[in-house]
Amino acid sequence: MNIHEYQGKDVLRKYGVPTPRGYACFSPDEAADAAARLGGRAWVVKAQIHAGGRGKGGGVRLAWSAAEVRRHADELLGMTLRTHQTGPQGRLVKRLLVEESVEIEKEFYLGMAVDRDSRRVALMASSEGGVDIEDVAARTPEKIRKLFIDPATGVKAAEADGLARDIGFSGKLLPQVRTLVQNLYQAFDACDASLAEINPLALTRDGRVLALDAKFNFDPNALFRQPEIAAMRDLDEEDPAEVEASKFDLSYIALDGDIGCLVNGAGLAMATMDSIKLYGGSPANFLDVGGGATAEKVTEAFKLMLRNPNLRAILVNIFGGIMKCDVIARGIVAAAREVELSVPLVVRMKGTNESLGKTILGQSGLRIISADDMAEAAGLVVAAARRGA
Ligand code: ADP
Ligand code: MG
Repeated sequence: MNIHEYQGKDVLRKYGVPTPRGYACFSPDEAADAAARLGGRAWVVKAQIHAGGRGKGGGVRLAWSAAEVRRHADELLGMTLRTHQTGPQGRLVKRLLVEESVEIEKEFYLGMAVDRDSRRVALMASSEGGVDIEDVAARTPEKIRKLFIDPATGVKAAEADGLARDIGFSGKLLPQVRTLVQNLYQAFDACDASLAEINPLALTRDGRVLALDAKFNFDPNALFRQPEIAAMRDLDEEDPAEVEASKFDLSYIALDGDIGCLVNGAGLAMATMDSIKLYGGSPANFLDVGGGATAEKVTEAFKLMLRNPNLRAILVNIFGGIMKCDVIARGIVAAAREVELSVPLVVRMKGTNESLGKTILGQSGLRIISADDMAEAAGLVVAAARRGA
């Protein structure tokens, strides 16, 4: 789960990572008011969307007066912001962060992510922070310093100091950076984050080290014990089909292909998507209806897939174990009756109550292309999607 920058900065401050002062705003009036409350001579008005690259995309603007803050706010709110992370459709800006503008001496990068290979949190830092960090990672990966944190000890002082020195900090700044890195790790650990990124981490002209940006991802499986984090969820920023799916406890992820997949079991769903790719097609979604799905749940799953305007064919791939084939079959028939099924449907069913499931489908009057194994099913559905009827 993602949160907005201003929410990430609230988390950072709670754990003692310094950030500029700022307020979340939802209207030009609130933005002008925030500038007045903050005081100072200059402010930045920052679009809050769940995507980075805002600086380059025109979503981070400097203002020298409250009137200018208001003007930027007026332009940004309601605007569709396109950045290299939003895709061509962009994101509608509904919230802003108005914060004090700080005078930057140099921009660094500091990030943490769960590293599955080492089963540790990997800490990454670079002297080359700022809006071009992707280029740095691609062209000069040696400029990114990595450290794997022992969960039993957290970030040791010597480790933090070594890292800070390697990216160019020295003298009085060392203890500042050490505490900041240790506090960021505390925040990461305590909040069940899977990613935390401060880019840029800024050294200011007056010798302070501050988080100028904040990006967090949290482990969705831990949200039950993170009520404060869960409350920050902004459903406006999530795919509507995925939000709908989570209401029915379906694991659904929208993808950009045109073949819908309805599968039971995450592993089988992955293998199904691979098979579609192997036969030259492209999946429109990942969808795992789970082991104990009811006919109602299957109906909802079908409706979800059919909302996708790019959909050209559907592949149902079921291995009936705990989940019985007849339940799936009833769900398919119910869904097809409720929503007009306008695309070809390929079904591969194996396992418990297989023949009953096939009978239900056969007697339904639906036009179904049936397949016996996965390879055949994938081949048939790719061909059906190409024909488009
Ligand atoms: P994004 O990563 O989406 O482009 P950032 O929050 O990193 O957005 O902002 C982009 C750039 O804007 C930063 O690299 C920094 O140079 C500048 N910036 C951001 N916040 C401030 C601030 N409070 N004061 C001064 N400059 C800022
Ligand atoms: Mg940034």
